Amino acid sequence: MTLHQNLIAGEWVGGDGIANVNPSNTNDVVGEYARASAEDASAAIAAAKAAFPAWSRSGILERHAVLRKTADEILVRKDELGRLLSREEGKTLAEGIGETIRASQIFDFFAGECLRLAGETLPSVRPNIGVEISREAVGVVGIITPWNFPIAIPAWKIAPALAYGNTIVFKPAELVPGCSWAIVDILHRAGLPKGVLNLVMGKGSVVGQAMLDSPDVQAITFTGSVGTGKRVAMASVEHNRKFQLEMGGKNPFVVLDDADLSVAVEAAVNSAFFSTGQRCTASSRVIVTEGIHDKFVAAMGERMKGLVVDDALKAGTHIGPVVDQSQLNQDTDYIAIGKQEGARLAFGGELISRDTPGFYLQPALFTEATNAMRISREEIFGPVAAVIRVKDYDEALAVANDTPFGLSSGIATTSLKHATHFKRNSEAGMVMVNLPTAGVDFHVPFGGRKGSSHGPREQGKYAAEFYTTVKTAYTLA
Ligand code: ADP
Repeated sequence: MTLHQNLIAGEWVGGDGIANVNPSNTNDVVGEYARASAEDASAAIAAAKAAFPAWSRSGILERHAVLRKTADEILVRKDELGRLLSREEGKTLAEGIGETIRASQIFDFFAGECLRLAGETLPSVRPNIGVEISREAVGVVGIITPWNFPIAIPAWKIAPALAYGNTIVFKPAELVPGCSWAIVDILHRAGLPKGVLNLVMGKGSVVGQAMLDSPDVQAITFTGSVGTGKRVAMASVEHNRKFQLEMGGKNPFVVLDDADLSVAVEAAVNSAFFSTGQRCTASSRVIVTEGIHDKFVAAMGERMKGLVVDDALKAGTHIGPVVDQSQLNQDTDYIAIGKQEGARLAFGGELISRDTPGFYLQPALFTEATNAMRISREEIFGPVAAVIRVKDYDEALAVANDTPFGLSSGIATTSLKHATHFKRNSEAGMVMVNLPTAGVDFHVPFGGRKGSSHGPREQGKYAAEFYTTVKTAYTLA
């Protein structure tokens, strides 16, 4: 089997590989991927540092061309890359291809942003002096990504980093190196100069940690767990570096008495269970007012019966497997905790077997949960959700906001008054009305509040805030 190597200073290097295994069929090895050492990470950082002066001054057409070619190639190869994604991560083929198309759109958007770089000029408060405000590249950016969006998250960090003139050391998640390797290969062939983008696949505790400990990394953008996010923050403060964190969520989805029942059920099922519940924007707290509660729970049960859990690559699968054994253990542990805490497991939650050995779990819905239970407070990151019964809208809003997290939130209602009030008062970075809590556009800001996020928003033109630093220059006329 061919070994997919790391890219350091424009060369493919590294010998020691590990197998990338398909969670739908653990007998299927997707490929062999090299494992970088801490020394490789240092070499990658040195290469990115050396490449920075020239790349940060490169012409906007050069950057545009690389990003544009990358967008085009990803789109042409969407079926193949989408399949690779579903094979290594376990989301359905439709979701894998959809995410691949989105990655292409992100590169296309930032190709355009290269041509729209602008500053401001304004008069000084002192006579005969002009002021220019411009954005400059930050330097070497460390990119650390999780396994749940193997192509979209790398794309939405790499594309703006390059567009604004930064150089990169990129460490993808251990479980899903395939899509990351593929987009780095595409960007490399699209004409990036040596050292501008370096790929170091490997362990977080080794390669990621080497990035955190380096004084030559000027910024780190991270998506992953709360625990690792805190390490990134602490190390970054130590090195006086810029950092951006996207961590967990415990996103609420509110269903009011006046909701359209089918809209509410569709949005709740999508929020809780699609992509196997492995989205930081997934909803695992469904907060339902008492007038619609029983009807809603019954309709959820009916809808859940129709969900097909099977091999991600099979036509007709709605929910793929859980990503690996340790995540599956976490999901089943939380199902046991929910029962112990006194919630009622109304539907699903069983381990199931299919034609191939994989990590298959029937989506689980608890009822009679309270917001104080661990299943309502801690991120599970699987197809497990809990219904919390409340009296009215005011209680629903209070419960929705009573969480340490604040990434996304949703409400199902036909009341303009409640929808408007919820949009204004939900303590989340993204609010959805009559839509699932997950499923966001690539051209508008993504990010949360409270324990979910730190630093400027990602995506769209707001990405410039993180990937550039502002300069204010004064000139005497
Ligand atoms: P999860 O696997 O639950 O998404 P993690 O925070 O463990 O969350 O992983 C997110 C990313 O952070 C992965 O690429 C992982 O390898 C990386 N990572 C884990 N530990 C460290 C660390 N000590 N330093 C830097 N990166 C790390």
